[in-house]
Amino acid sequence: MGGRIVLADPRGFCAGVDRAIQTVETILSAADGAARPDGVPPVYVRRQIVHNRHVVGDLAAQGAVFVEELDEIPDEAVEHGVPVVFSAHGVSPAIQQEARRRGMHVVDATCPLVSKVHREVLRYVREGYEIVYIGHRGHDEAVGVVGESPEHVHLVEHASDVESLDFRPDVKLIYLSQTTLSIDETHAVIEALKARFPWIIEPPSSDICYATQNRQTAVKSVAEQSDCVVVVGSANSSNSVRLMEVAEQALAGRGHAHRVDDAGELDPSWFDGVGTVGITSGASVPEGLVSGVVDALGGLGYDEVSYVTTTKEKMHFVLPAELRKAR
Ligand code: SF4
Repeated sequence: MGGRIVLADPRGFCAGVDRAIQTVETILSAADGAARPDGVPPVYVRRQIVHNRHVVGDLAAQGAVFVEELDEIPDEAVEHGVPVVFSAHGVSPAIQQEARRRGMHVVDATCPLVSKVHREVLRYVREGYEIVYIGHRGHDEAVGVVGESPEHVHLVEHASDVESLDFRPDVKLIYLSQTTLSIDETHAVIEALKARFPWIIEPPSSDICYATQNRQTAVKSVAEQSDCVVVVGSANSSNSVRLMEVAEQALAGRGHAHRVDDAGELDPSWFDGVGTVGITSGASVPEGLVSGVVDALGGLGYDEVSYVTTTKEKMHFVLPAELRKAR
């Protein structure tokens, strides 16, 4: 039986991920051939530059060294001026202070749309607001944003968490959110917030970024005409996991959504009796991994490929200022 594949468009790399990866690649190519003491790498990156293990593996193979915390970076490398890149998810002021204290040469690859939320926190705290931040506890982006003002930023994950908040009616309140949430789930939390605190105000524009919104709209449309959806993306990628949830809901019981890091994780039993497979990928996923999944499904008889295009993206972010000359 010949099966069908429907590819979501847009999918894969967003402008923030593209910029973050190019930041590390630009440093690597500028450092190529430069003299360094033995054992000192060309660049350190704090945390995964973007949440995709293939991207991180590729950059590590080119010489980038990934660390969880700044204290893993030896003084010798700092003294040698080795750049330290902050990931696309952003960092808290405490991390920036630590880097300054140690005299590190920081190159900040925080996505400009994440930086926008940091600025909103600072602005509204300055204006005397308490901030309800809708996000995922422990996610790098949420940790960075809450770290801007831990005493005034109150994290909620689900609508049920709103019950635990308590503000008097004379407290100025605003909600902000993580950039990679599910639009529908966030809507439920916002409704719960408005019901409990009717005076709460909205952010000037949605904090859920254009790429998250566009990929969710596209996968919804794909899932509506599929019997199964494969989302390519890593387990710690918030936007990839949200794509799986959105697809599962849009499949409405006709089949399931599965997340894989690459074609090697496909389970042929998922496709028993499946006529049409929808495919999408998270914002941190290189297109080659999607091609691998399409090829593997071709081997299972899915040889007709079509696209569902819900919008064309034109967003582009320039590199951090200090690197623009290096390219
Ligand atoms: Fe920026 Fe959105 Fe991409 Fe995150 S998903 S890096 S916020 S554009």
